[in-house]
Amino acid sequence: MRSFVKPVLVISACLDLQQVRYNGQVVKDELAIKLREYCQTIAVCPEVSIGLGVPRDRVIVYMDKEPRLFQPSTGRDITQEMLSFSESFLSSLPEVDGFLLKSKSPSCGISGTLVYKDPYAKEFYKRGKGLFALRVLEKFELLPVEDEGRLKNPEIRDHFLTRLFAIAHLRSALSRVDSVTQLMEFHRQYKYLLMAHSQVKLKEMGRLVANSKGNLRESVKMYSLLFMQALKRRPSRKQHANVLLHMFGHLSRHINQKEKSHFVSLMEKFKQGKRDLYTLTDIIKSFAYRFEESYLLEQAYLEPYPEELKDAIINN
Ligand code: SF4
Repeated sequence: MRSFVKPVLVISACLDLQQVRYNGQVVKDELAIKLREYCQTIAVCPEVSIGLGVPRDRVIVYMDKEPRLFQPSTGRDITQEMLSFSESFLSSLPEVDGFLLKSKSPSCGISGTLVYKDPYAKEFYKRGKGLFALRVLEKFELLPVEDEGRLKNPEIRDHFLTRLFAIAHLRSALSRVDSVTQLMEFHRQYKYLLMAHSQVKLKEMGRLVANSKGNLRESVKMYSLLFMQALKRRPSRKQHANVLLHMFGHLSRHINQKEKSHFVSLMEKFKQGKRDLYTLTDIIKSFAYRFEESYLLEQAYLEPYPEELKDAIINN
């Protein structure tokens, strides 16, 4: 069982069970509620923060040259207030590891926000993003930023949680690194996770770690950047399959032909989308426990975030 650093997560206040929605309601999302136990949350309601109050009349996004925020009932254009608030709030944050925002909102939505052609919402233009969310995405491009709607997709959710907990670990571990050995140790734990995301970056980071003697501070800074860049792109099933085969290779001397054939057939089903990743990683983990393969058991890839979050997800 790995131990985890608590990520610092910025969360839309309505997902943090605060009664700040336009109608005074909260949003009860099982994963968001569970994450409050495992993260240190910083809740924000951009609309309340710019003084719109609760309850409030709806605001909408419409497209001029740039997206604008408007309250049709009062005729108020509140774009500038929202942009100024976003800038000052985001600049005042401590180091954070990710953002979980409310979908479809004209302020917080990462996806599904209704964008109109005109300020009175007479003509629909497209589905897009909220104004606050757009600033978050611009300013924190290397951090995981999602909304609870997109996190219903198991692969997006797995990627979000993996990045959130890996970046929190990176931040905490590398702030204390004072020897090349410690940097190597961190890199060792993430070998397979990085391999799943980017073989190119894994090799680049391996070279960086190997040559970090004499310029440790600079190397740690560059390592952090490469780590976050590597994790940004969601791995394909083919990339996961490659990692699973590598890990399985460590175990092959211990197991018999029938066990091998069974694993290979599950792997084929995984590649076709008929099995999820947990089925395969759980098998590898069981063998690793049985044969005391500590190198595999230390790998973040086999347990990238707390198991209890997986359980919340499976029951969602
Ligand atoms: S979606 Fe954002 S702006 Fe709307 S109530 Fe929730 S926190 Fe406030």
